[in-house]
Amino acid sequence: MAPSAVTPPHEVQQTAELTAAAVAHKLAETTKQPNGQSALRLLDASLLKFTKTKTPMTVPEPGDPIINSSSQCTDHMVTAVWRVSTGWDAPELKPYGNLSLAPTASVLHYATECFEGMKMYRGYDGKLRLFRPDANCRRMLTSATRIALPGFDPLELQKLITAMVTVDGPKWLPKSRPGTFLYLRPTMIGSAGALGVAAPKEATLFIIATFMPKLDQPRGMKLLASQDSVRAWPGGFGFAKVGANYGPTLMANSEARARGYDQVLWLLDGVVTEAGASNFFVVWRSKEGKVQLVTAPLDDKIILDGVTRRSILQLARERLTSSGAGVESLEIVEKKFSMEDVAEAVKEGRMIEAFAAGTAYFVCPVCVVSYKNEDLTIPMKLGETGEYAGLIKTWLMDIMYGREQHEWGVIIDEKEDLE
Ligand SMILES: *Cc1c(COP(=O)(O)O)cnc(C)c1O
Repeated sequence: MAPSAVTPPHEVQQTAELTAAAVAHKLAETTKQPNGQSALRLLDASLLKFTKTKTPMTVPEPGDPIINSSSQCTDHMVTAVWRVSTGWDAPELKPYGNLSLAPTASVLHYATECFEGMKMYRGYDGKLRLFRPDANCRRMLTSATRIALPGFDPLELQKLITAMVTVDGPKWLPKSRPGTFLYLRPTMIGSAGALGVAAPKEATLFIIATFMPKLDQPRGMKLLASQDSVRAWPGGFGFAKVGANYGPTLMANSEARARGYDQVLWLLDGVVTEAGASNFFVVWRSKEGKVQLVTAPLDDKIILDGVTRRSILQLARERLTSSGAGVESLEIVEKKFSMEDVAEAVKEGRMIEAFAAGTAYFVCPVCVVSYKNEDLTIPMKLGETGEYAGLIKTWLMDIMYGREQHEWGVIIDEKEDLE
């Protein structure tokens, strides 16, 4: 929900909807109100203080094993601290380094943490881009408020991310390496040092950039449908990118890997939700004979509103619902579907392809789904991917890497003297 659509606090106070009321309060305290007033200092990117590193690091060469470790960060990071009594301090861009936290810090005990995952891309046209950063920043606000962390204007966060990319992008993603990316991780934690199960009185926002390997497997990925554990549930927080959603899934994930699968396909009462930390799509022929692109809906708030998911749905609506793309046109359906439906489509020969989609795994074809100890083979018409996944992936890459000029590919101005 857009923050502006949240009911003002005085109107929700007495309802039974505790979470909705709490979100409204948080937003009223920490974001600009319709009258332009706020009791506390708002997050303000124009106050950003710059302290450049005196010990610049070396950029790893392509193929350096450090890239696969996802641990190599760039020279700088952005931080901003919020306090319940004063609001947001001026944000800082400073040398990358460790944080200092009290052992009593809220995040260490109560999982008051949320994050975003996005990438900066070095285009084939030499330009540096972000992909729909506005969507990530709005989602970060949704996630933060869900776990009682402070609100902020998403546009200010976007400006901070842009500052980080402007400073570290030219060196760490050089023009000599078109078609590469760095991963950006905006994060917020409850940093107040105080035990007691309560909304943290201090929070720290930080933005870091790391190398990350390409995770989209060319051979297709194998999924193991979860039988005994669930990732999210109605009334919970599956829609929020909060750390608390991930730690508890790691055991099932390593068990799946030990059995030869790449990710868990999360079910809730037999209904298909997401694949690992990616949204999941199938393309099948319905019993009525229509080709459909199907993915789980957002309404019951158990799945993450992926930026990749949204973008795929929109591109598919624009380019695949009528003939012209060189493939059979399809219908776009956001609805609940069960693992039984998937198994039936496979067995009746109606399954056309399946893929997972997210920033990290990008658009990754699925070749097998294991369900009730049976490996269901999912077709990949082009050998290494399905036709639709292949097309969609190309379209998205063209926007991200500047082969197609599109409003989703936001160009970052690079200062000439940094080249
Ligand atoms: C991050 C994430 C996704 C993908 O979202 P994108 O915005 O496309 O990167 C999907 N599901 C889960 C659970 C996630 O954490």
